[in-house]
Amino acid sequence: MTGNLLVRGGRVLQGDELVEADVLVRDGVIAAIGRIEPLEGMTIEDATGLIVLPGMIDPHVHVGWPGAADDFAAGSRAALAGGVTTFIEFAVQFPGDALDDVVKEWKRMGEASACDFALHAIVSDSRPETLEAMARVMDAGVTSFKMFMTSQHSGGLGVDDGTLYDIMCRVAELGGLSMAHCENDEVIGHLSERLIADGVVTAAGHSAARPPLVEAEAIARAVRLADAAGSPFYIPHLSSGEGLRAALLDTGRRVPVIAETCPQFLALTADVYARADGAHYVMSPPIKSTEDQATLWAGVIDGRVSTVGSDHCPYPRRFKDENAASDFRRIPNGVPGVETLLPVMYTLGVRTGRMTLADLARICSLNPAKIFGLEDRKGSIAVGKDGDLVLFDPDRRFGTAASDLNSEIDYSIYEEMELWGMPVATVAAGTIVAREQRIVDDAHRGRFLARTPGVALSEFDRRVVAA
Ligand SMILES: [Zn+2]
Repeated sequence: MTGNLLVRGGRVLQGDELVEADVLVRDGVIAAIGRIEPLEGMTIEDATGLIVLPGMIDPHVHVGWPGAADDFAAGSRAALAGGVTTFIEFAVQFPGDALDDVVKEWKRMGEASACDFALHAIVSDSRPETLEAMARVMDAGVTSFKMFMTSQHSGGLGVDDGTLYDIMCRVAELGGLSMAHCENDEVIGHLSERLIADGVVTAAGHSAARPPLVEAEAIARAVRLADAAGSPFYIPHLSSGEGLRAALLDTGRRVPVIAETCPQFLALTADVYARADGAHYVMSPPIKSTEDQATLWAGVIDGRVSTVGSDHCPYPRRFKDENAASDFRRIPNGVPGVETLLPVMYTLGVRTGRMTLADLARICSLNPAKIFGLEDRKGSIAVGKDGDLVLFDPDRRFGTAASDLNSEIDYSIYEEMELWGMPVATVAAGTIVAREQRIVDDAHRGRFLARTPGVALSEFDRRVVAA
């Protein structure tokens, strides 16, 4: 249920500027921006002293993955508490599943979501019925398709190069966007066996089995295949400098290639894998070196990296710790992230002077909206767009202890880090759903967002020529 919400007295992000203005949201949609006199029936929210940002869009979460701690309900609450008002979840075609049923099932699960959501589809085969279903899935508003190039941690979802190419050709035919988890399956398997034989069994082995080469080789291969297929290509969770160079090397290709990185790659380094609780940081690709981190930051700042997605996929401590001392291959992959996306990017991006607030809003809201076909409704504060706002206090600390967070997870990967920037209130479609890291409206439900393919994707392609 939505009425009229008037956010008064804040400084509202408009383009590159912060403008003193009120924002009126009527029936979930922004109706006016400027000096607005309150009228009877309006809910007034005082934003004096606060910055008003568009709701963040996390293009990469897992809130339906079997065994993970957060389902749609918990994951979306975590998102809203952290200022993310829209996320894009992956609907997973496990081997043998019918793709239509998968998307229907994920939409059904999404009815529990407290924030708006869209779906990518993870495709795990190129059977004729799957390729046919992809057209119907596109019509249903799921216009991006991700394939796993490795089976090592994905529960057997990996596809061979032929299957990957077939699916990319179909995506090209349908006008969608291909994505791939780019890591070299055989090298990981080979190095893992050797490490285990040498007695390197803890999280350090997970990291050692996945040097930057593993990512860069798979990216180079996937980009070639996507180009041959004629499909625009999006690289999720880019983790290494070598990977970034492989992604954007100008080989004369015709298709745009777009890169996403994750907050954990920008905030942490591979040192975490030497810690006693290193298993808590196990994800694929793993967190890399200080040099990789510096290259990724440079890419975020100069536009070679277009988006930041959290890859939110937390597992409770007991699952993480179960095999942590005996076999890193059996540690579930994934870390929490959707709730801390905005404060991490604010603290390490804006507060350090690396970027402006407008840059942050572009990378964490406008770019994903454009790339994933949500720009008509999301991505900026403008009349006619959804009333998704973050009333933001940059000078307040964001609580990073597990007890401060809404995610159903019993640890925090940022516990020891000082994060700044408090979403004093998160507004979803004109309803105040969270205040100061706590959900205040349990009844609010998000909507499934049927997407159209993103346009002008070449705007995000930043090719580099090898030196
Ligand atoms: Zn992921």
